[in-house]
Amino acid sequence: MATVSHSLIALAETLELRWQSYRASGDFDHFVEFTLSLNGLTERLGQQNLPGMAVASQELENRALALLNESSTHPVTGELADAISQQLGVILDLLRRHETPAVAAKRASDADEDSKGHWIRQRNVLIVSRPAHPWSEALVEQLSFYGFKAHPISWEETPSIEDSPLAVVCIPDHEDRIYPHSALETIKRLKARYLTSYFYCLSVPSSLEAIVGLQRAGANVCIPAEFKLSDILSRILDLVESREQETHRVLVVEDSKTAVAHIQRALNLHGIESRAIHTPLDLMQAIADYRPHAILMDMHMPFCTGVEVTRALRQIPEFQTLPVIYLSSETDIAHQVEALRLGGDQFLTKPANPIVLAAVVKTKIERYREMQRSGRHDSLTGLLNHSSSKEQLEQMVRRALPTGKLTVAMIDIDRFKSINDNYGHPVGDQVIRSLAWLLRGRLRNTDLIGRYGGEEFIVALNGTDSDQALRLLNRIRNDFSELPHAHARGSLRASFSCGIASVPAHVTGSTLIEAADTALLQAKREGRNRIIVAPMTQDFPLIA
Ligand code: GH3
Ligand code: MG
Ligand code: MG
Ligand code: MG
Repeated sequence: MATVSHSLIALAETLELRWQSYRASGDFDHFVEFTLSLNGLTERLGQQNLPGMAVASQELENRALALLNESSTHPVTGELADAISQQLGVILDLLRRHETPAVAAKRASDADEDSKGHWIRQRNVLIVSRPAHPWSEALVEQLSFYGFKAHPISWEETPSIEDSPLAVVCIPDHEDRIYPHSALETIKRLKARYLTSYFYCLSVPSSLEAIVGLQRAGANVCIPAEFKLSDILSRILDLVESREQETHRVLVVEDSKTAVAHIQRALNLHGIESRAIHTPLDLMQAIADYRPHAILMDMHMPFCTGVEVTRALRQIPEFQTLPVIYLSSETDIAHQVEALRLGGDQFLTKPANPIVLAAVVKTKIERYREMQRSGRHDSLTGLLNHSSSKEQLEQMVRRALPTGKLTVAMIDIDRFKSINDNYGHPVGDQVIRSLAWLLRGRLRNTDLIGRYGGEEFIVALNGTDSDQALRLLNRIRNDFSELPHAHARGSLRASFSCGIASVPAHVTGSTLIEAADTALLQAKREGRNRIIVAPMTQDFPLIA
């Protein structure tokens, strides 16, 4: 359950080596290399759900960048070098600590049930306020619904949590006023102790003085006074929501070994993974095996040109939008324009500057991901949409068969029409979003969670049989039914009904959905706010 990948550790080790070379030589070039790998590390930490650590790395990077302007200031003074060593040491220590399986700052990808049947989760949030502040109490209650462990403390108290909590939320005594000096001191003290936590300060007035003061103390986000608790919850949830930010993978199609070495070194330096093939004939197989997020394509190769390869690739629907970046010593503008017209995304001239190369690759991949994401996800809840849910379920079923476990649940909010009718559509939307959050907060990121229709959700739990699923979903059902949803005149409660069906009684995505849907209808008929398990009859007679 390591949350820090080994490639990240490798990156950190390179960083450490570079720093040691600089300290030994005092050579400005070594300092530049150190700063570049620091930049790579910051970006990777940001992508890997380690925002607090990314901030620590960013702070060090800023310090290094400030020293990049003037080569005559190198080697830096011993005092400054020691300070950087110390800052670097803290980051490296934290990374190594996070590499051990003790931390789960994201939806634990392989969390399992503990002996009491709870899914193991470790997501602490520290809440700092005066004792019994109503917001603090509300946050503690709501956060626990969504699978977090909230620890309320007073401004003077020393918290008992050992490891950095995921987030620290500061609630001032007075709304919309500059935080008093004592509060800033507390934030500073906590920041020094919990370097990797993300610090939210609530109810901050929109004045530069207030915001700069808090930022200096260590605040990562200043939330304005007019924000509601539900907005704050959604931001904390986004922090752990795994957007499946895997690494950037690039396929390099290039016949020159020297060019490949140069390109791969540049990509590697910026934390971008790559694989190279030397002939376009291997392209289709390489794409199928490696699943790249972008292709760096040489223009001139044996057998055919990069433009021809790209045109062929664009004929396959799956690869119509995969970013292709041409690399060529071609300087003829007319050729470049033609290459772009024929389906490339960008043109880089060889040998490309490593920083520009990495930046272009990352931008293209991010835009591609965003485009894919918006097509696959529902905008109200951020969950997978109907068609993507079905696609993903089919894949999960294929992986689970013939011996694995998999359970599908169809969930539908009870008497939702009357919530809309009585309290208005926006309140209805918030109820839908709350259930989405609850599911996101309680399930693992190997599970499928989709918005199947208006107020209907689909969940698929990997490696889980119907008994385990029933226990887990019943806890969620119970908690949802007690969750207060705010409306103009107070709060309301809602409930859901659910039907579940499992492999191997059903062996395709569509029959699983159908069986779970039938069970859901039965749950509605039997009075709602309950879960019914589909009968365990086989879809097909087993072949003897
Ligand atoms: P049951 O317990 O049988 O499920 O009753 P129900 O009222 O929940 O079911 P019904 O299917 O009659 O009503 C669902 C309503 O959900 C109808 C539709 O207007 C509303 N709805 C669908 N999508 C949205 C949405 O995105 N936002 C809001 N606020 N309402 C939605
Ligand atoms: Mg070539
Ligand atoms: Mg309904
Ligand atoms: Mg419905």
